[in-house]
Amino acid sequence: RKLVGKLTTGCTEFDEMMGGGVETQAITELYGEFGSGKTQLAHQLAVNVQMDREHGGLDGSVIIIDTENTFRPERIAQMVKGLSEKYGMDLDPKEFLQNIHVARAYNSNHQMLLVESATDLANELKEMGKPVRLLIVDSLLAHFRAEYVGRGTLADRQQKLNKHMHSLLRFGDLFNACVVVTNQVMAKPDAFFGDPTRPVGGHVVGHTATFRLYLRKSKGDKRIVRLVDSPNLPEGEAVIAVTTAGLTD
Ligand code: ADP
Ligand code: MG
Repeated sequence: RKLVGKLTTGCTEFDEMMGGGVETQAITELYGEFGSGKTQLAHQLAVNVQMDREHGGLDGSVIIIDTENTFRPERIAQMVKGLSEKYGMDLDPKEFLQNIHVARAYNSNHQMLLVESATDLANELKEMGKPVRLLIVDSLLAHFRAEYVGRGTLADRQQKLNKHMHSLLRFGDLFNACVVVTNQVMAKPDAFFGDPTRPVGGHVVGHTATFRLYLRKSKGDKRIVRLVDSPNLPEGEAVIAVTTAGLTD
């Protein structure tokens, strides 16, 4: 087993809550309602992972499986500028963008297939280029939920999802990479379970995700991140800010 790496979120409290940062060889699930900052955090990690270890990075590149067409290169450029200012370095946004490999997923089958393509690409980049240290799926379930509607199809969906989650875990192990997935919360309080803050995906996602983080809006640009589930860390909360320069304390 390879030594677990830790990727900085760029936020002191958040990193501390995570025992140093987002772990490699694990799936970290970000869930929360629309606008809570899941995609922003994913963008920030895609930048941070490219930094050297001294600056909390993993000297790596990133693959993003984008299911909702929410990846924005301009946003990456803003965040790179933010890091340049933070560390007094002259970082080139173009170089950062070159190490972010984005693939649009058009449906759930395609999304699953893209994990195999990601494996091929990561094998290539291992030989020449920056090794892939982060795989992002944003969002994990949008296609699955749209395609599998009605009670009768739920078992099929969960079976497929289970397979998908395990290939993501395998990717993380194989390449010593962080795997970060985003997830929605129940749109309305559930008649049986009552809690509107439950993530979707049921037991399959719940049991396979190693770390589960619940994001919610607070005052202004502040967001509260709650560590809900972890194999080795206590539950906790951290306050972060989503600013033009990126995620900050
Ligand atoms: P979701 O959880 O739905 O993925 P996002 O990560 O897309 O949510 O968060 C969207 C929010 O992030 C916006 O409402 C805004 O508050 C903030 N945001 C997005 N882009 C910027 C930016 N360039 N500068 C500052 N804040 C931003
Ligand atoms: Mg989003």
